[in-house]
Amino acid sequence: MASNSIHPDSRIARLEELFASLPGLGPRSAARLVSELLTARRGEAHEIAAGLETALKLVHHCPRCHTLTTDPVCSFCRDASRDKTRLCVVESVADQKAVEASIAYQGGYFVLMGRINPLEGTEPEALGVPQLLRRVKEEGVSELILATSYTPEGDVTAHLIASTVRKHFPEVRITRLSKGLPSGVELEYADAASIASAVIERR
Ligand SMILES: [Zn+2]
Repeated sequence: MASNSIHPDSRIARLEELFASLPGLGPRSAARLVSELLTARRGEAHEIAAGLETALKLVHHCPRCHTLTTDPVCSFCRDASRDKTRLCVVESVADQKAVEASIAYQGGYFVLMGRINPLEGTEPEALGVPQLLRRVKEEGVSELILATSYTPEGDVTAHLIASTVRKHFPEVRITRLSKGLPSGVELEYADAASIASAVIERR
């Protein structure tokens, strides 16, 4: 039997098809996952189904940092101990966690949840750029640290944000993590020590 053959039961086949369309899952692993969920892991399957249902109803972008949250304001933004005058712009929650793990940074975050991809025509609005400008204004941000990845899309994204912020708020200091980080690598895969020195040596 070929690994990508269609399951004879149409409901199961549809599930396999849905899982296989997710990033990182091929038809084979999708079929194995569906089979596990419907047999040995029925408890988790119920929890996943109910959890997704609830999260889909409640999820939205945090009004301050743009990350996805099911709370009115995300836990990071509720933490009053963080330095509000500094704002670090990252592409993803994974990158935010990587910067956080370096312990070199105590300011706020803005999570783009993506990056500008000229080929796909990503709009700055989709990355929350208007929301970012509002936050810079309302919270008196004095330094914006661009921690987008050193990939072509990350560079384009950093450039666009820098020029937009500079136009509206010329007094804000704009820095980028130092080039000590490996080129072409997502922040989330860099080690904590490299990120820490990139934060310290930012310019
Ligand atoms: Zn937030």
